[in-house]
Amino acid sequence: MSIANNLNQIKSSLPPHVTLVAVSKTKPVSDLMEAYNAGQRIFGENKIQEMASKYEEMPKDIQWHMIGHVQSNKVKYMASFVSLVHGVDSLKLLAEIDKQAKKHNRIIDCLLQMHIAEEDTKFGLDKDELTDLLDSEEFKQMKNIRITGLMGMATFTEDENQVRKEFTHLKTIFDGLSRKPSTDNYQPKILSMGMSGDYQIAIECGSTMVRIGSSIFGSR
Ligand SMILES: *Cc1c(COP(=O)(O)O)cnc(C)c1O
Repeated sequence: MSIANNLNQIKSSLPPHVTLVAVSKTKPVSDLMEAYNAGQRIFGENKIQEMASKYEEMPKDIQWHMIGHVQSNKVKYMASFVSLVHGVDSLKLLAEIDKQAKKHNRIIDCLLQMHIAEEDTKFGLDKDELTDLLDSEEFKQMKNIRITGLMGMATFTEDENQVRKEFTHLKTIFDGLSRKPSTDNYQPKILSMGMSGDYQIAIECGSTMVRIGSSIFGSR
């Protein structure tokens, strides 16, 4: 199967309210261009420098999503162009994104990453940390970021019930967000969950954005 075929097959299986992020990390620009030429405009990368160099080389109507763990000292390399940062898991990182976005006179959309998996290897906030962040005075003062939703990763397991339980938990937290009134920098509408192995379950559990890599581009 070609990249274009894989992409079209996945796209046709997604409900219209679900956005596809094509996760292109480690793949060469020629592979990304194949997806681009098949119509894909949203790409996800997990290393800032790799994303920045692909951004330089590729057409400028692409929306670049940073889906990996973000180190504060590298935010400056993506601040001018990144379209959505999925992995924000601290107020400190959010403050750095706000600061760098301001230098470019723009607003950067961010998702807060929640820790929903049983594995303790995955990054993310718990529910109390989420509440603390959103209630903090520092967050309320930030003018160059906008929280547009949540992101989470389920445990890497064959146990479908476990995955379903974790996604459902994240969806419950997400639904709770809408009880807080939206503001300029708080407009939750995106729930980013689901990868190649579990995106169908994620969609059943309420995902609005799936991040799919290997099912499009092949294994890494
Ligand atoms: C790599 C990655 C994906 C895509 O994984 P696949 O299993 O290849 O679809 C999705 N989300 C994150 C955060 C990733 O790092």
